[in-house]
Amino acid sequence: MKKILNIFFYFLLTPLVFGQNPEPKKVTSLFFPEDETIENVTPALLKKKGFTDYKEMMTFLNTQKESFSDLVSIDFLGKSQKGYDIPIVYINNKKYTNEKVKVWYQGGLHGNEMGSTETMLYLIYKLLNDKSFAYLLEKIEIAIVPMANIDGYLKEDRYASNGLDLNRDQTKLMAPESVILKNAFSNYKAEVALDFHEYNAYRRDFAKMGSFGVSSIYDVMFLYSSNLNVAPNIRVVTDSLFVGNVRKVMDKHQLRHADYMSTETYFGEIHFNRGSSSARSSASSYALANSISALIEVRGVHLGRTSFKRRIKTAFLTGLSFLETTFNNFDLVKKTLKEAQSIDQKLSVISKKNMYKDTIEVIDMNDYSILNLPITVRDAKGAKTTLEREKPEAYILTKEMNFLIEKIKTLGLQVETLTENTNFLVETYQVIEYNRDETTYEKMNLQEVKTKIISKEILFPAGSFRILTNQKNARLLYEVLEPEMPSSFVSFGVLETGLHKEIPIYRLSQIK
Ligand SMILES: [Zn+2]
Repeated sequence: MKKILNIFFYFLLTPLVFGQNPEPKKVTSLFFPEDETIENVTPALLKKKGFTDYKEMMTFLNTQKESFSDLVSIDFLGKSQKGYDIPIVYINNKKYTNEKVKVWYQGGLHGNEMGSTETMLYLIYKLLNDKSFAYLLEKIEIAIVPMANIDGYLKEDRYASNGLDLNRDQTKLMAPESVILKNAFSNYKAEVALDFHEYNAYRRDFAKMGSFGVSSIYDVMFLYSSNLNVAPNIRVVTDSLFVGNVRKVMDKHQLRHADYMSTETYFGEIHFNRGSSSARSSASSYALANSISALIEVRGVHLGRTSFKRRIKTAFLTGLSFLETTFNNFDLVKKTLKEAQSIDQKLSVISKKNMYKDTIEVIDMNDYSILNLPITVRDAKGAKTTLEREKPEAYILTKEMNFLIEKIKTLGLQVETLTENTNFLVETYQVIEYNRDETTYEKMNLQEVKTKIISKEILFPAGSFRILTNQKNARLLYEVLEPEMPSSFVSFGVLETGLHKEIPIYRLSQIK
């Protein structure tokens, strides 16, 4: 009988099939009561049903711009695949001519995370209309992309219209929106960045846990990079100061929080991945560009308008806390980012996550009590490097690699072109083990390689490219060019290779 119930519950918890809110009213009232302190000032909050559509968003933004023309400007970054202009809102009080910290906020990168866009609009409204926040603009300027994946958002669908997940696309840059957003991010040179998301508290794996399934209890989860190639001082300041202050705010407002977790099946057993180090997603990608960055996941996917104001409040308080922390630590932020550029570390090419047993609180869907669930954790925090490599002073790519050079420029790197044929003593990657995954991930055939580095003198023809690594965004460059790195052009199959082949990416250890 239990098995039958589990199967029944499994389907009950598959809202994608039924298109329904999976949350019993009892769970909402016991754990996530609505919060009426959020004012009805944004388009969705001003109506009883549904979410903000594109036209309503633009009307709202233009109204704010007209009322605060001295503080607000709106620009369009480019077009979504369906032809919608992607707006970015800049808020900057030019009355203060001192140097400021540049902050980047983004919502709606996944189109079915409806509270994230609404939070961006709410933040814009409050920063402009609530005089108690005006002081923040003395030291901060902010760029906000409220609806990053417009096509997805208008269908309440996670993906861009070509089916790609824009938050797995930060290194391979295969969706037009990814290129547009990354170019804007690189040009803006954000120093603090926050990507607003919502998560599904009724994951399929959760239906198999407890006696009748479980649901996540956290109002919000924080994802900040554990990537070992991020400057260590940035990692410390992000975790202990920025996210640390948000944790205090959440405690004060009795909102439940945790570090980001997701489930994954390993050899038939469900494990919890905690934290993340993937350069393919925003928090790590931004941190590798030397910004203090995080991604937040508010409990909201598939919940419709349930606890909508509570979700907005949770995300709004997080955004506000990041701004306050920036304001109160202006010098420290500037100093941390400056020092990050000169910190020299060896490259962590491959690392192994930290595995341990833990217990987390979940909602028991049998009786709606709190259950202590024993779990196996694979933690990105505390990961150990298993393959290390020296940093080169430059990489050289031939003319034929122009399609990669375009992506590298989008990642914010300067590229030189050789004006004459030049001999370089370079390190080459020889593929000694190779595996190509025939099933596709994000429409790509993933490759796994092991390489042997061999030094050679090679004549590079004029028109070849050289990219120096003494640049701000060099940490992103390593992630895409070192073949074994998990989000590299080779790993993602953007640059195809094979056994016993030489990969056409060359390392220059010493520039003469
Ligand atoms: Zn998301």
